[in-house]
Amino acid sequence: MKANYHTHTARCHHAVGEEREYIENAIKGGIQVLGFSDHTPQIFPDGYVSGVRMTPEEAPEYVGKLRELGKEYRDDIELLVGFEAEYAKEMFGDLTALCRRLGVDYLIMGQHWLLREEPDRWCFKPNPSREWLTLYVDQVIEGLSTGAFTYLAHPDVICYTGDEEWYQKEMTRLCKEAKRMAIPLEVNMLGLVTDRPYPSERFFRIAAEVGNEIVVGCDAHSPEALSDLVGQERTLSFARALGLEPLTEVSLRKI
Ligand SMILES: [Zn+2]
Ligand SMILES: [Zn+2]
Repeated sequence: MKANYHTHTARCHHAVGEEREYIENAIKGGIQVLGFSDHTPQIFPDGYVSGVRMTPEEAPEYVGKLRELGKEYRDDIELLVGFEAEYAKEMFGDLTALCRRLGVDYLIMGQHWLLREEPDRWCFKPNPSREWLTLYVDQVIEGLSTGAFTYLAHPDVICYTGDEEWYQKEMTRLCKEAKRMAIPLEVNMLGLVTDRPYPSERFFRIAAEVGNEIVVGCDAHSPEALSDLVGQERTLSFARALGLEPLTEVSLRKI
């Protein structure tokens, strides 16, 4: 892989390793452009404090530290500083304002919850409801329409267990809208190597049919993912077997 834009840090409380280890593993793995995209800080209007993301107060240090390392390693690798963000309409203005103040390079969208960050609203949780899937697709399309997202991480993260016809209809809608907006979809290596339900063949068959641009993302929650050439190759092969050729680099969208 020439570039990887999906990298976490220990600041999100569920990834491990020092930033420096991520960078050195990426160099070892032959990656030339490394984008950090840790889970965004999120300012919740009701004072809720998330257990899976840095706080807004920790964000300047995240950016500062990576900028410093970017200079230190500039002869070996290009570092980018971004975030993986949820889209929630009522909080998105504050979030993009914070990103601009911090001068981050890009956002990727990773929708792990629908509407609110609560256990019952977790996308990974199997759910047969048509309305639930539609809500996911609506929320993703609305988020992508802001123009702030460089790509959509694990577009198939929603664990819909209902009828196939509805899945085809709604995911075709998602893929067509992403294509219309020229936003690439990610094939997620973490999901593949840990045997999660995503990346799913049924989703990426639709993406192949629609003709979406796709990109492979390591979703590194540990430094070793960046030098895991077997995992990276398996993820590339997953895409190629479905007739999809991943982009080697993506152009960053302005937040
Ligand atoms: Zn994570
Ligand atoms: Zn991620």
